[in-house]
Amino acid sequence: MGQHYIPYGRQLIGADDIAAVVEVLQSAWLTTGPKVTDFEKAVAESVGVRHGIAVTSGTAALHAAMSAIGIGPGDEVIVPALTFVATANCVVYEGGTPVFADVHADTLLIDPDQVRKKITPRTKAIIAVDYAGQPCDYDCLSEIAAAHKLFLVADGCHALGAEYRGRKVGSLADLTVFSFHPVKHITTGEGGMIVTDKSDLAERLCRFRNHGISSDHRQRENQGTWFYEMVDLGFNYRLSDIQCALGISQLKKLPEWLARRRGLARLYDAALADVREVAPLTHNGDNQHAYHLYVVRLAEQTDREQVFREMRRKNIGVNVHYLPVHLHAYYRNRYKTAPGLCPVAEKTYERILSLPMHAGLCDEDVRRVVSALGEAVAGAGR
Ligand SMILES: *Cc1c(COP(=O)(O)O)cnc(C)c1O
Repeated sequence: MGQHYIPYGRQLIGADDIAAVVEVLQSAWLTTGPKVTDFEKAVAESVGVRHGIAVTSGTAALHAAMSAIGIGPGDEVIVPALTFVATANCVVYEGGTPVFADVHADTLLIDPDQVRKKITPRTKAIIAVDYAGQPCDYDCLSEIAAAHKLFLVADGCHALGAEYRGRKVGSLADLTVFSFHPVKHITTGEGGMIVTDKSDLAERLCRFRNHGISSDHRQRENQGTWFYEMVDLGFNYRLSDIQCALGISQLKKLPEWLARRRGLARLYDAALADVREVAPLTHNGDNQHAYHLYVVRLAEQTDREQVFREMRRKNIGVNVHYLPVHLHAYYRNRYKTAPGLCPVAEKTYERILSLPMHAGLCDEDVRRVVSALGEAVAGAGR
């Protein structure tokens, strides 16, 4: 096959992005300068909340979120079984215990009934993951959180720009976390942000990313003082002005890129309607999907491994998101999790495949993916 490789996700960098970064390189501030504040304001405004706190990655953002809500030893945090490992790891960083809840088979979103079953007197928070870019059932999750006095944290790393019943992801939970890794909707190379309307949490998050110190270098310079005080234990999770300049420039293109991702999803939906062995995940009618991923389920009798190998052989970057977190060696060894804990996630995991999805794909790429997939599934029956 001489055809070019189609990755499942990748960034788009334009001349405007490059110019924005070069401008910062020639300025007085490389880190924690005006671009950080501008980027934080722009992201917070785009999702309709008051505060944005930029950090070095989505993982750092999750870690900061767990610290801000006071997770510690003895505390349990409910997380979906089917997500990137960072969603659960952030609980462990703070000494808490992640408790895995099963997902809906048709959407792979956390199942509120399963969340209810996992609540104990030690439960402190729920982390909702908007899998593939589709918002979870936030009305139901908020109700559970309120009834049991739990924090609701949204891992919105797949869902920048998504909406639930007319409200933006970012404004639906106590804290929402985004990632700016190159496969996500917009990139800063590495980067992340927590957005919130709660001023007390925002203040703690700002301290946490800067060693637990109560003011930053720029504030002290402006106030003409050298004095600072460390009030909590924190980290150096600061995102640089160089990265934030890239983020500001990228964010301007988010609406156009979201429209493109949604258009690609419609093309896939239409083309796959004729392929009997392949079913896209269900898209609930009450939301605007952000399509970080386009995930399909293969028929029970189709050999996923064979389809995967055949697609890769044809230079198509399919992927699997994700091995359920509780089946990773670390969790099995440390938390004694085992198969059977979240049967829907485990069973569905064996049949899912992520097709290429990013704003740089053309219609012809989609046709090539669908035609290759049709051939691959036809040859992979058992
Ligand atoms: C990407 C991602 C993260 C982590 O983001 P990084 O910026 O790579 O640290 C966390 N959770 C989910 C669901 C993700 O997709």
